[in-house]
Amino acid sequence: MRPPSVDALARSLVDTGLPHPLLVAAARKAIAEAASDHVSDHHIVDRARQHAFVSKRAMLQPVINATGVLLHTNLGRAPLATTTEAVYTNLELDLVSGERGSRHAHAASLLAQLCGAEDAIVVNNCAGAVMLVLAALANGRGAAVSRGELVEIGGGFRVPEVMMQSGAHLVEVGTTNRTRLGDFTTALNNPTHNIALALKVHQSNYRIVGFTQQVSVAEMASLEVPVVADIGSGLIDAACPWLENGPPIWLEGEPAARQCLDAGAALVTFSGDKLFGGPQAGIIAGQAHLVRQCAQHPLARALRPGGLVLGAVQQVALAYLNRNPQAIEFWRMACISPAHLQERAEAIANRANHTTAIRPTPTTAITGGGTLPGVEIPSFGLVLDGNHAAALRAHSPPVVAHVRDDCTWLDLRTVAPSQDEPLTQALRAMA
Ligand SMILES: *Cc1c(COP(=O)(O)O)cnc(C)c1O
Repeated sequence: MRPPSVDALARSLVDTGLPHPLLVAAARKAIAEAASDHVSDHHIVDRARQHAFVSKRAMLQPVINATGVLLHTNLGRAPLATTTEAVYTNLELDLVSGERGSRHAHAASLLAQLCGAEDAIVVNNCAGAVMLVLAALANGRGAAVSRGELVEIGGGFRVPEVMMQSGAHLVEVGTTNRTRLGDFTTALNNPTHNIALALKVHQSNYRIVGFTQQVSVAEMASLEVPVVADIGSGLIDAACPWLENGPPIWLEGEPAARQCLDAGAALVTFSGDKLFGGPQAGIIAGQAHLVRQCAQHPLARALRPGGLVLGAVQQVALAYLNRNPQAIEFWRMACISPAHLQERAEAIANRANHTTAIRPTPTTAITGGGTLPGVEIPSFGLVLDGNHAAALRAHSPPVVAHVRDDCTWLDLRTVAPSQDEPLTQALRAMA
């Protein structure tokens, strides 16, 4: 019997919505497998459909985050609304003078205002921000860091490795658990180190407890070199003036850009897609002459974001300045009351009308993304017996859930209300 033609097989998959060349690839793969495995025509069609399905699943697409992890690294950290219209922007045009402008004039100046900084610049991510600061201010010189802060943030961001790439020499001071201001002054007084700056790195994703001592930004500010604080997590202001009820308790102790600068940091660096709630970006804010040195370094060109990202950062910065947390999806989700989530959980459980019981249940959400380790946010969701993670992921749109103790847990804090209906359908489809 002759195998089906590649073209006929590809055309039989057109309902998948994939472009023809991808369907041809799926068809070829299935036919090649059939030749070696001796499978029937019927199975060739099935296999081709499976290959098409796999290539469709590999594409970037919206998912329902039912994990309760607000900044889930695998799900792109902070959720973000984007517009898709094709438009030109005044990215590098000064609309007042008609002269060439700077792409750092829009979002960055709003960020500076927000953090109480003289100036700011936006780059691709926080790793890039730290790298640029070190390259611009400490190339060929020493940068002093406490041994307790030589951290790995995850995804391979290791402070010592970033420093090496920047051309700055790492000068470790203190010990893993205790560092004193005197450790910094000793290093600064050693001319062979030729120290250009002192770096404070926030221990974003772990805690050192017990017999510990750290040097605060305020103490470090008495040193003769500029202090750079890599706060990473991107909290703009510890007072959270954009929230009607002030800072939630789970934020306690989290360093914030405005307070670090007030305490004497010359520069702060942070991520755009963590607690800031924006797109992937890195922000450098602080003293104007140091920000300028960063902006003028050749690496700034390699690390600069495009108009899409800068537009999104600007939109988030405006929402902060307007004190409108509803317009920042991270803060909207982070601040919903568990009682409200409970109502939604009960409505979904009723409508899903499932053969296996779906039980509304209290849950605990976390911020995630390497921020606030151990901090739990009371939340509400649904629990089902058994492991349904793969079935939920196979749904369209995919639903990502947690499996624990042979139960599947769905936390509603990270599910947008507009996703309740598709989530209900995913649960119904599992019956
Ligand atoms: C997350 C984090 C980074 C890395 O940020 P990216 O935006 O992912 O590059 C760097 N430093 C600290 C302290 C962080 O928490």
